[in-house]
Amino acid sequence: MEASRRKFLAAMSAIPVAADAQDQTADHQHQLVPADISLRVKSLESVLVEKGLVDSAALDALVDTYENKVGPRNGAKVVARAWTDPAYKKRLVADAASAIAELGFLSTQGEHMLAVENTAKVHNVVVCTLCSCYPWPVLGLPPVWYKSSAYRSRAVIDPRGVLKEFGLDLPEDVELRVWDSTAELRYIVLPQRPVGTDHMDEEALAGLVTRNSMVGVETIKSPSEGTR
Ligand code: FE
Repeated sequence: MEASRRKFLAAMSAIPVAADAQDQTADHQHQLVPADISLRVKSLESVLVEKGLVDSAALDALVDTYENKVGPRNGAKVVARAWTDPAYKKRLVADAASAIAELGFLSTQGEHMLAVENTAKVHNVVVCTLCSCYPWPVLGLPPVWYKSSAYRSRAVIDPRGVLKEFGLDLPEDVELRVWDSTAELRYIVLPQRPVGTDHMDEEALAGLVTRNSMVGVETIKSPSEGTR
């Protein structure tokens, strides 16, 4: 991983900015600015490491954390615990950051959290209209679509339409709540536990929970419906 990251640094610095910009397709418009920023960051990193001001091992440890240690499997464990332990669910809804920390998932970008529960009558979906604020400790880094301007704008203009595009046709009588995430407050959706899972233990239940269900753009299928 370290080697590939270093190679990426070298490759990035070799790309002329103009050529890189031409490379952007409609699907990747949101990357126009990040590409430039990432070049600046990589250049800055190289200079700081060269001058001995930054320890590259420390940087690699940080990258490793976000590549391998935080991610949606953490959130899935939180959801499965909430499904199987009513007292935990109560604590999660009352103070999500503390309840998540109970399971050991505490790091930056998750200090202030709100868990919003889906029910038969209410469905929650999360967006960050301003940028891409996302609960890293439980969901990892945000997917590309979450950062796209299309999702960020349309999730508030036409949330039902967006959900349909994700394959979720929400019944009209279900209230849809859209939560606009900020750097100060991030959200995790507590999806509904699918029917036909009474026999499943916490670990097996966690295996059913998808990242997208914790953002609210899909629901979790019952194992009998098939999750393949
Ligand atoms: Fe944001």
